[in-house]
Amino acid sequence: MQRLANSIDGAFVGPATGEWIDVYEPATGKVYAQAPASDARDIDLAVAAATRAFPAWAATPANERSRLMLRLADLIDRDCESLARAESIDTGKPISLARRVDIPRAAANVRFFATAILHDSSDAYHTDGQALNYTLRKPRGVAGLIAPWNLPLYLLTWKIAPAIATGNTCVAKPSEVTPMTAHLLGILITEAGLPPGVVNIVHGDGANAGAALVEHPDVPTISFTGSTRVGSWIASRAGERLKRVSLELGGKNPNIIFADADLEQSIPTAAAAAFTNQGQICLCGSRILVERSIHDEFIERFIRHAKKLRPGDPSDEATQFGALTSEPHLQKVESAVGQARRAGGKILCGGARTELAGRCESGWFYPPTVIAALAPDCPVQQEEIFGPVVTVTPFDSNDEAVSIANSTPYGLAAMVWTRDITRAHKTAARLDAGIVWINCWMLRDLRTPFGGAKQSGVGREGGSDALRFFTEPTNVCVRLGDQP
Ligand code: NAD
Repeated sequence: MQRLANSIDGAFVGPATGEWIDVYEPATGKVYAQAPASDARDIDLAVAAATRAFPAWAATPANERSRLMLRLADLIDRDCESLARAESIDTGKPISLARRVDIPRAAANVRFFATAILHDSSDAYHTDGQALNYTLRKPRGVAGLIAPWNLPLYLLTWKIAPAIATGNTCVAKPSEVTPMTAHLLGILITEAGLPPGVVNIVHGDGANAGAALVEHPDVPTISFTGSTRVGSWIASRAGERLKRVSLELGGKNPNIIFADADLEQSIPTAAAAAFTNQGQICLCGSRILVERSIHDEFIERFIRHAKKLRPGDPSDEATQFGALTSEPHLQKVESAVGQARRAGGKILCGGARTELAGRCESGWFYPPTVIAALAPDCPVQQEEIFGPVVTVTPFDSNDEAVSIANSTPYGLAAMVWTRDITRAHKTAARLDAGIVWINCWMLRDLRTPFGGAKQSGVGREGGSDALRFFTEPTNVCVRLGDQP
C-alpha cells in the first residue's frame, strides 16, 4: 500500500496527526493508497516555508522563473504516460482521456504562464505633461490554492502556474479524494529545481487542512475551485479577513439546440458535453434545450449516441466511459435520478448502476442517463448533479430558450447551436454565463477569461486575469514638471 507524503520546504513528510486518509480506486471500489490526514499544524509548517521562500523567489528574474517552470512542463510531458495512468486509477476516468486531455493540459498550463510573464506589460499614462503614471505589479506573498477531484492535475497546475510565475510562493491543497498526481507533481517540482518552499503541497480534507489554509493570517490570496457550498463558506471567511479570493464553482449548463442546427455536429458534441469524464466536468452541458420542431428526432439520435458509451474498466484502452470518482458521489447521482422519477421524469436511457464482472465487479459505475418530461424549475433541473445525467426540455421560441437557460442560480457555461449567425451573437449576449460556446464545446484558449457568473463563482482565471489576480498593483506617479 503506497503512502503519499506532503511536500513542504522541498522535503517529503508525513502529517502531524500521524493519521492517513484511504484513497480508493473507483474502478474496483478498493483502497489502493493512503494520503496524509494533515491539519493546521502541517498548514502552519507549509505557510512558514512559503513565507521564507517568498522574498528570494519574488526577486528572481522572470526569465529564470520561466526557465524552471518550462523544465517542469517538460518533465510532465516526459512522464505523461505514468501520470495519465495514475490519474485514471485515482479518478476512474478512462486512461485515453487522461492521456489526451488531463496531463497534456497540465503541461500546457505550466508552459502558458511560464511564457506569459515574458510578454506581460503594465499600463502607463502621461498626465497633461505634468506626470508619468505607471502601474507596478508585485507578487502578493503566499497563495493558498485549493482544488477539486474531477480534473486533479489539470486544475491544480492551473492555479500553481500563474501563482508562481508572477513571483508568489504557494501552499496547494489537492482533493483528498484524488491526491495521487499532486504527490507526483511534488516530486517533479523538486526534480525541475524549483527552490524549496516555492510550491508546498499539503494533503488532507477540507475541514482540517483546507479550512486552516483559508483562515491562515499569512495567506492573503486564496484561489478555490470546487462546490458552490464550500465556495460560499470560503468567501465569508476570507471576506472577514479581507483576503483576495477567486472562486470557481458549480454549474448547470444549458446546451441550446435551435431547429437550424447542424445535427451531424451537434448531436455527438452534445453527447460529449454531457458525458465526458462521466459528466464530472463543471462545464458539462447537463440541460439540453431543443427547439420543439426537431425535439423528437434530436432525442432519438442523441440517445443512440449515449447508449454507445458503455461503462468499462478505465484502464482498458478502448474504454470511453469510466467509473464515478467516489461512492458517496455515486449515491448522490442515484438519489438525483430517484428524485427525477418521483417528480414524473421519464428515464429515456440509463437510470440504474452498471455492474461489471471481474476486476471491476465492486466498482462505482453509472451509465449515461437521459431524463425527459421534467419542469425547468424542478430541483433536478436547477441543482448541479455533476454526474452522467442530462435532462432534455423542448422550447418554442428564442425568448423561451434564453429564459429557461438563465433560470438556474448558476452561470458558468452555455452552448448554442444554430446556423444563423445573428441569432448566435444575440443569444450569446443574453445568456448569464462566463463562457458561451457557439456550435462547439470545450474549445479552450488559455488567454481568455475563465469563470462563472451568479453562483458559479467570483473572479476569472486564465490569461491576464490570472496574472492580475496574483499581483498587487501600485500606481507610481512621477512628477515631470513643477508641482502645480
Ligand atoms: P468540494 O467543494 O467538496 O471540494 C473542493 C476542495 O475544497 C477539496 O480540496 C476539499 O477538500 C476542499 N474543501 C472542502 N471543504 C473545505 C473548507 N471548509 N475549507 C477549505 N477547503 C475545503 O468540491 P468537489 O466535490 O471536490 O468538486 C466538485 C465541485 O467542483 C463541483 O461543484 C464542480 O462544479 C466544481 N468545479 C468547478 C470548476 C470551475 O472551474 N468552475 C471546475 C471543476 C469543478
